[in-house]
Amino acid sequence: MNGPVFLSVVIPMYNEEEVIETTFRRLTEALAPIGETYELVFVNDGSRDNTAKLVRRIGEGDKRVKMLDFSRNFGHQIAVTAGMDYASGRVVVLIDADLQDPPELIPEMIAKWREGYDVIYGQRVVRKGESLFKKLTAAVFYRLLRSMTSVSIPVDTGDFRLMDRKVCDALSSMREQSRFIRGMVSWAGFRQTALEYVREERFAGETKYPLRKMVRLSLDAITSFSTKPLKIAGILGFVMSAVGFIYLLVVIYQRLFTDTTLQGWTSMIVISLLFHGITLSLLGILGEYIGRTYEEAKRRPLYLVADKLNFEQPSHAEPFPPSSPSGDPELAASRR
Ligand code: UDP
Ligand code: MG
Repeated sequence: MNGPVFLSVVIPMYNEEEVIETTFRRLTEALAPIGETYELVFVNDGSRDNTAKLVRRIGEGDKRVKMLDFSRNFGHQIAVTAGMDYASGRVVVLIDADLQDPPELIPEMIAKWREGYDVIYGQRVVRKGESLFKKLTAAVFYRLLRSMTSVSIPVDTGDFRLMDRKVCDALSSMREQSRFIRGMVSWAGFRQTALEYVREERFAGETKYPLRKMVRLSLDAITSFSTKPLKIAGILGFVMSAVGFIYLLVVIYQRLFTDTTLQGWTSMIVISLLFHGITLSLLGILGEYIGRTYEEAKRRPLYLVADKLNFEQPSHAEPFPPSSPSGDPELAASRR
């Protein structure tokens, strides 16, 4: 079956061979009762294991299973973006491959969509099986982000959500490199509502979001939705000048009316270190923004697709140069 469908489910995958078959089964079972046409858009984000092979096998028996196979690992947010670019559904659902977001919630999301909402985002009331450190850093991050941005991004939501076609199109038209999708959806507006759910434990395998990727995502989120960090320099500078001025008055007073000897080698060093520290941190913040501006200025495509499965024609997606991964015997055979 091809052509436009009612529902597209976008599933990013990075080394998910342990979960993929169960995910497929749970999704098909959850979607069957809806009685609408659908497609499952799997995005293989440069997995090093058998993820792609498994999806290919599933896709032989079920043409509703489609796959974009990236040329390398581009990151979760980019994988989701590609899935949305190629999704043809009237509504599009983003869901993780590891079954932490229950597929059984999709019918409820569709019901809300029929009520007239354009975005139904899953809000986690409980997070199971995640380390205290992850929960704590996540809680701090969401609140920090909220205090810094002018766009109101709902707290405790991940990317698990249903979006109307018009929201998906709006997102596809935003081609920035540093992507924080939940923020971009909030920015887009439209009628949005939350659907509370319990975030389950990962079904199998381990998290593909080590601290390094979490920090990166947080920096992307803050820098793409707020310029407040850039203003810290100005505020600090002002406060420091005020303090300096007051101290100047003190020094003049001492010079004129007292005979206190000037001491202060230690305090000089402390102040010097402190201010060099502050200056360097502020330069670092500037660097984050300049680096991102530079990345945007290059205007590279967000991702490269090495191979596609069960897609008839690319929809409104970016044009890609055909890339040629080497060393795949199946592929080599198909080219002879
Ligand atoms: N993922 C991806 N590319 C990456 C990292 C993760 O496509 O570089 C996918 C991963 O396969 C999963 C989803 O993004 O479907 C969320 O990742 P994970 O469950 O590891 O994150 P966590 O739930 O631990 O935050
Ligand atoms: Mg997960």
